[in-house]
Amino acid sequence: MTDKLKIWDERAKNLAKTHPLKTLGHLPNIPGITPETSRFLRWKSLVYLLRHDKNHIFKRYFWKHPFKYTRNILKSYARKKPYVREGDFFLYNFSSLEEFQKSLNAPLAVVGFSYCHKPLECPSGRFTDQCIHDENHPVCGQCFIGKAFHALPAQQTKVFFIPTVHYIGEQFFKLLETYRAEEMVFLITACEMTLEMFGDWGNMLNIRGAGVRLDGRICNTMKAFELSEVGIKPGLTIVRDETQDKILELIRLLREKV
Ligand code: SF4
Repeated sequence: MTDKLKIWDERAKNLAKTHPLKTLGHLPNIPGITPETSRFLRWKSLVYLLRHDKNHIFKRYFWKHPFKYTRNILKSYARKKPYVREGDFFLYNFSSLEEFQKSLNAPLAVVGFSYCHKPLECPSGRFTDQCIHDENHPVCGQCFIGKAFHALPAQQTKVFFIPTVHYIGEQFFKLLETYRAEEMVFLITACEMTLEMFGDWGNMLNIRGAGVRLDGRICNTMKAFELSEVGIKPGLTIVRDETQDKILELIRLLREKV
């Protein structure tokens, strides 16, 4: 895998000269969540999820296991935070990144990439659940999502390109019709605000995994978040270089275990 990644990096370097992509000039120094937004955030996330549930996901799936889901979410609400944080990694139902790594031999790994770190020139469009991940395409060849996708094992892995929080929520509800929560482990990129807002909801499903915090032009207010959920997201988010390395290391471990 190391050789494959080296070849990828070499080609990306050359593509950056012939087909330069729009990038962030500099990393903006902004808080992950503004102080005003962080007030009553758990309550705001509940209201948001229910009010914007156009496809009636909660009605369709919640009532299949109302007692279990109610018990799980109350347990999560009782905790100060619904996750344990290690740097850019937010761990749900794991006490450390080390424990998460040990679980990578689970029958199914669910990997998700938020649309906001697709390149602005993405040939599949940004606000979609599509990704052609064509390694010969000059944009895909410079894209971290493309690089990670090609490093992932094809077996026992499901990959999602996430346009909205309801979209990924529904994917998990569907997966839980086939797999038990303990049989899955997830690795998903997202803004700090959404990792904070929707942790309780992942805990309601009892799913285990890691959220990877994005940097760059993140959403750190409810207004920015709500606009991004309808595809209005002109800014670009990024996975920091050292975090990219950690993700690729986790993918290497995943490959070893399948
Ligand atoms: S790899 Fe996927 S996300 Fe990246 S540029 Fe290509 S189509 Fe877009």
